[in-house]
Amino acid sequence: MKEIYLDSNATTCVLPAAVAAARQAMEQGYGNPSSTHATGLQAKAMMDGVRQRASGLLGVGDGRLMFNSGATEGIQTAVLSALCALRERRDAGKRIGSLLLYGATEHKAVPESLAHWNRLLGLNLEVRKLPVDAHGRHDLQALDALIGDTAMLCTMAANNETGVISDLSAIAQLLQERGADAYWMVDCVQALGKLKLNLAATRIDYAPFSGHKLYAPKGIGMLYVRAGAPFTPLMMGGGQEAGLRSGTENMAGIAALGAVLVALDDGKTFRSHAELVAFRAQLVSSLERAFPGIVFNMPFDLSLPTTLNFSVPGLSSKELLDLFDAARVRVSSGSACSAAKALPSYVLEAMHVPQWRASSAIRLSFGPLIDAATIAAACARIERCGEALRSSCLLPSALAPSPLDGAQDGVIQLSVDGQCTWLLSDAASASCVVIDPVAALVPRLAAFIRCQHLALRAIVHTTAPADHGVARLALLQELVIEQVGHVDIDGELALGQQRLRRVECGENHVYLLGQRFAFIGTLAPEALTPLLDAALLTPGTVLCGARDDGSICCTVRTAQEGIVPAADLQLDAASLPAFLRQHPDAILVDVREAYEHAACAGTVFEGCAVHSVPLSRLAGQVAAWLQQPQCPLVFFCRSGNRSARASACLRRLGHAAAWQLNGGMAMAEATRHPLAIAA
Ligand code: PLP
Repeated sequence: MKEIYLDSNATTCVLPAAVAAARQAMEQGYGNPSSTHATGLQAKAMMDGVRQRASGLLGVGDGRLMFNSGATEGIQTAVLSALCALRERRDAGKRIGSLLLYGATEHKAVPESLAHWNRLLGLNLEVRKLPVDAHGRHDLQALDALIGDTAMLCTMAANNETGVISDLSAIAQLLQERGADAYWMVDCVQALGKLKLNLAATRIDYAPFSGHKLYAPKGIGMLYVRAGAPFTPLMMGGGQEAGLRSGTENMAGIAALGAVLVALDDGKTFRSHAELVAFRAQLVSSLERAFPGIVFNMPFDLSLPTTLNFSVPGLSSKELLDLFDAARVRVSSGSACSAAKALPSYVLEAMHVPQWRASSAIRLSFGPLIDAATIAAACARIERCGEALRSSCLLPSALAPSPLDGAQDGVIQLSVDGQCTWLLSDAASASCVVIDPVAALVPRLAAFIRCQHLALRAIVHTTAPADHGVARLALLQELVIEQVGHVDIDGELALGQQRLRRVECGENHVYLLGQRFAFIGTLAPEALTPLLDAALLTPGTVLCGARDDGSICCTVRTAQEGIVPAADLQLDAASLPAFLRQHPDAILVDVREAYEHAACAGTVFEGCAVHSVPLSRLAGQVAAWLQQPQCPLVFFCRSGNRSARASACLRRLGHAAAWQLNGGMAMAEATRHPLAIAA
């Protein structure tokens, strides 16, 4: 399964012609453009040619256009230039505004640079956010009220998370009507190649660009400076770029950018606006089919056709990302920079979209090089993702369930914010019990129970619930049930052929499923000695707690005998095939969620069957694996995090051969040993 890259607002691949141009610049045209010999002059001619082409495309007129390392540098330079000029004006006794105003949805490089240079230059102006409306466009009324006192204004041409296009003409008109003397920077990163720009015909003072958002390599950018706008170099030295930006130019980057600009100019390489709009419509209908209830977080008519931003009720952005990644469709959550932090999107928050949407948003973005076949393949995979979700029964309530594999027996762990809820299900009797419900998990529990057509037999607690039963009530309400059974002291509840028994241990209740599982709430394993003495437990009983400390489950034996975990057994993707040949009895275990497993369409690797045991179902499986502690288990997941937890859990429990695949599927794909072979 080939990767489908739909994260072009973060970065793009490099246009083949740009690769060729960079290569040519490195192999043949490697001269220093400042050298006066022929090799240098040839390099300079190439660079001048690219600048000329860029100037024409952007309508630079008599303004200046310098090459630099990218938009973050361009933003620094613009801010430094404007702020130095403001300081000079103030020192000369002239009035300057008191505000450094920036759009609330700007890339972080803008407010961070404003704050940085404001502090370093001792200007001490107020760095203030300009609000945006529900569409993500600048609030012109607020701008009107503030512009008279604004020293510098920073806005963007199009937003990187939502693709929303700013109304720059309206802003320009307002500046003109109010006779504003604020310096104006417009971040044009996401506009390059997607919006027509004629910079010199505008009031814009500074416009940064970045090559890697439009098929040039990372590390090459441009900054436009209006003729007459103040300028202070960020870097001093050999006086390159007419003294505007010292340092020998990135010639390979410039050559590559030049090739992209040629492609923009020729009008044949990139898709037209109308084609891109049609591609977006195709993606939207597939997304709607895959995820009924999906909400788009941007107005289509005011946005670039190449960006979609959406949220799906009941699914976090992490879950959606994992699902898409399993299907080898690369998308991102919010902006790339904050993806690792899993914070709600400040862009969507600024647009006042409901909190759940701001914290679960996904951005899907493509570039104008995309073709119809890629869009069709992406649509097919997106629809398969929807099917995978439906088959796993982990669906928001809005989705119609269609379980593929029927109800299963299970001991299922669901966690949120360090707390665990356990769900015991019995396929034969189609019934289940919920232990220690957490309110945040109620929609998911309800969706699962409903989708699997399970009868909820009881909701039980190991201690008096801290939420005073709120989660219990919410679950009953979600399932439209008035009351369920409960387990009395020393009582039992039948779950099909199985018996769930409640016993006391100090202040706590412990729930026992035979001697196989004990649900111990927040008790430490050491506190279970009385139950062990009474032979209610065995040293090998799997203990399932209410706190998610990452360990999944344990046994009394591990705590009692202090089992020293086997060494960390790590496998590299490259050595996996040989390992599997050497160990034909090895079991390959995909610990990703069932929907991720289903989305990647692979069940066999090197003749070895791949078992799907999501981390949430691992506890239910460990006892069986521990019966053959020498039989190699190889856990894998997307990035290696979940498989590391699984293998650590098994090793702690005394399994001697629990391996994990280093770096997960991501590395397996990179080393061209995909675990998934299209079924
Ligand atoms: N501005 C916007 C709107 C962006 O999307 C980005 C890149 O994420 C930047 C600025 C920073 O660009 P660069 O990576 O070239 O520093």
